[in-house]
Amino acid sequence: VLVPPAHLLGSEVEVPCADGHLRRHVNLDYAASTPVMSAVWDVVEAFVPWYSSVHRGTGAKSQVSTAAYERSREVVAHFVGAAEESSVVFVRNTTEAINLLSTALPLGTRVLSTPVEHHANMLPWRRHDLRTLPFTTSADELLEVTERALKASRIDLLAVTGASNVTGEVWPLEQLGRLAHAHGAQLFVDAAQLAPHRAIDMQASHIDHLALSGHKLYAPFGSGALVSRAPLTGEPLLHGGGAIKLVTLDDVVWAEAPDRFEAGSPNVIGAVAFAAACEALEEIGMDAIADRERALSARLHAGLDGIDGLTRLALWPVHDERVGVASFTLKGHKAEALAARLSDEYAIAVRHGCFCAHPLITRLLQVPDAESKRLQMALRRGKEPELPGAVRASIGLGTTTQDIDALTGALAEIAGA
Ligand code: PMP
Repeated sequence: VLVPPAHLLGSEVEVPCADGHLRRHVNLDYAASTPVMSAVWDVVEAFVPWYSSVHRGTGAKSQVSTAAYERSREVVAHFVGAAEESSVVFVRNTTEAINLLSTALPLGTRVLSTPVEHHANMLPWRRHDLRTLPFTTSADELLEVTERALKASRIDLLAVTGASNVTGEVWPLEQLGRLAHAHGAQLFVDAAQLAPHRAIDMQASHIDHLALSGHKLYAPFGSGALVSRAPLTGEPLLHGGGAIKLVTLDDVVWAEAPDRFEAGSPNVIGAVAFAAACEALEEIGMDAIADRERALSARLHAGLDGIDGLTRLALWPVHDERVGVASFTLKGHKAEALAARLSDEYAIAVRHGCFCAHPLITRLLQVPDAESKRLQMALRRGKEPELPGAVRASIGLGTTTQDIDALTGALAEIAGA
């Protein structure tokens, strides 16, 4: 049974196209940011008259705000299946959550990761002792190379994506978690792309730390979370008020998590909205969402695969478990120009470029090493060479079969013209 599309704000907008006609805006860019669910906005509107400073305010509104803020942590923890003793730190987004975790871990932490990660789950680990696994062609091969690397040297943290933002491939988290724990390592999961599409169970999947973003989960921009199996210790990313127990002129006693990592006035409305989104998604049911999206994804992939000259990018070609993200190239069409045509002529919103995953895109597009070197040199010299890129279509709660058919129909027209 397919759940009806949830009501998303702005989903009936019409936009002018190059031929002067108004067309319904077709959003196929959910992987970047999702529209806000109206159920989330209702909660925000009801909360706004009550919002006030949190924690040490004694006014009635401060108490309401503090209770709402603290309750939001419980809702997010429940949404990702975190244990009772876990801690939820509110941040701006996944990028901040990963930087926060990386800063909290002792310098020299031995991190094992993969080359397919979003830059947010790659660059923050470079301040530590980072080893990167080779590219793999199947989930089984990923498990094999991970086990080999964990056996070969001591690793403290395995840092992987939950679902690729380029290929949509969903990673075998439970097996990776078991492997990591069997070798004394913790598992961190970048769940920015996984969380909107699949139920997450941190306990069943042996996940020690998990990051996610509200703006990819039908809440407005500005809220994200780092969920840790046990309260995090270590160096806070931000230093300031609210994160301390006592400050003297030459010392500081940091508070425990989560306060330790939330210096400054927090985004209380953001946290409330984020929690409201988690609750709304739970109410629809993550399994029902996954089933509906699997059907839409299958239609999208089949439609794309039927277009002459179109190549769909996949790291694991026979892997079926994917969230609704498809990146592709079309022979004879540059990615940027193709994305622009889809918008200008058909009012279809997609994304183009490298999707913050340069090493993966370089691999998928088979960019020769010499070309990569040439681009690096040119960029260092201040030039602006054209970077390799693809087009990405991604689906979500508001996507209909008409949206998918609009895209595949437009691409077939462009390819055939
Ligand atoms: N990881 C993945 C897999 C992503 O897709 C994204 C967003 N594109 C991020 C991390 C970063 O998320 P944010 O921009 O919300 O920090």
